[in-house]
Amino acid sequence: MSGGADGPDALDPLIRTVLDALARGAARRGGPLPEGTPRELAAEVVRAFTAADGDEALGLLTEVLAHGSADPADPLCAAHLHCPPLAVAVAADLAVSALNPSQDSWDQAPAATTLETLLLQELAALVGYDPVAAAGVLTSGGTESNLMGLMLARDRVLGRAAGRQVELAGVPATGARPRIFASSAAHFSVARSAALLGLGEDAVVSVPVDHELRMLPDSLAAALRESADRGELPLAIVATAGTTDTGAVDPLGRCAELAAEYGAWLHVDAAYGGGALLSDRLAPLLDGIERADSVSLDWHKLGWQPVAAGVFLARRAETYASLARRAVYLNPQDDEEAGYPSLLGLSLRTTRRADAFKIAVTLRTLGRAGLGALVDTCHELARQGALAVRAEPRLELHAEPVLTAFLFRYVPEGADPAYTDEVNAALRRRLLREGRAVVGRTELPGEGPGRVRLKLTLLNPRTSAQDVARLVRTVVAAGLAEEEGR
Ligand SMILES: *Cc1c(COP(=O)(O)O)cnc(C)c1O
Repeated sequence: MSGGADGPDALDPLIRTVLDALARGAARRGGPLPEGTPRELAAEVVRAFTAADGDEALGLLTEVLAHGSADPADPLCAAHLHCPPLAVAVAADLAVSALNPSQDSWDQAPAATTLETLLLQELAALVGYDPVAAAGVLTSGGTESNLMGLMLARDRVLGRAAGRQVELAGVPATGARPRIFASSAAHFSVARSAALLGLGEDAVVSVPVDHELRMLPDSLAAALRESADRGELPLAIVATAGTTDTGAVDPLGRCAELAAEYGAWLHVDAAYGGGALLSDRLAPLLDGIERADSVSLDWHKLGWQPVAAGVFLARRAETYASLARRAVYLNPQDDEEAGYPSLLGLSLRTTRRADAFKIAVTLRTLGRAGLGALVDTCHELARQGALAVRAEPRLELHAEPVLTAFLFRYVPEGADPAYTDEVNAALRRRLLREGRAVVGRTELPGEGPGRVRLKLTLLNPRTSAQDVARLVRTVVAAGLAEEEGR
């Protein structure tokens, strides 16, 4: 067992085994991901899983995991909001794994309960909320946080309009149709949340975006007006602070004004862009976030935490009421009255890992300034990457980076839109197969061919501008090779 006074001694040799295997696997990989097709790589895992036995299993399977990883610590692995975790955060997470506190009741997590509460107050202040009035919880990520924000919106706004407790009586079958307004570049979890909440994905009104994928405020105003004219109920506006593909920040102040005008809930999905709050230079991009009713933040993106490190915050604790639950075996009322607080009623989950701990340790170790410097470094790397793309005649930059990501594409001979899409998709798979680079691939909102784009997401502050330039040249070489092979 890993706990107790003897736990550390039991763990010690095993951790040595893991560290040695991590080093062996990474050395054998020798790049951002292993070379080979998915089938070849799967066969290796099957072999190891079948062969692993007894005390050898830990080292053998760890080496296979490390070898077979797309490692965000490699400068040529820059596709997704998939960060290389800080060593100090991973070490802190080891303590959590060893002790296994669970955040649903005080008697499973005395210290961790207090720490999560303290951390959330600090993060509420970072967002610009009054930390005494706000409430929040650690989540699995932006997906869960967005669901929570929209659930509270449903219970509050629809509950008020329908004159009933929606969390008890359900979504009414009659009355004004509830609508959610989000940009066409909003995260897909917004639509999925609408489905889970019984509103249906069709309840989401897709608001057009500009070239940078930022919501058009006049289009939002028009969509709200038309919806109100149809007699619908504007339930929520979801503003994205940092779209997954371009890092664009929706006009938060205008969204807050419109939410107030129409009585809608404002949820800001800052799963990516919330990291800008750590940087003096970039924080002004998020001006207005403090007016949101609820916010999603992800510390496993611009926060360098191992997954999961999601955060959900609500500006006013009383709007959280519909989630509160009492389970006689976890948070009996007399215990709470006697001073034993439990966090059960703040989460959709019951058993819950102490993910606040690694964030708390990181925040104290580096400070906001230390983390902000990492954000600024990644922002600067993205700008350098965009410059490198501009310098390549075969590449076309979509837009300057707002945060740490940007879109671009390879433009082949002839530049036919459908053919361009094919070449870009294929060159990315070529890079994966050859184990050379992990580059993102996405599509711009809209219809028809010519929308495929490649994406670089710079989240590794140890990467250099030269590394990024090498990555860009690697993409060009793969594009040329792809064209030649056709
Ligand atoms: C990543 C992301 C999400 C989803 O968050 P998870 O942590 O993956 O659940 C939601 N919204 C935006 C804007 C994101 O970038």
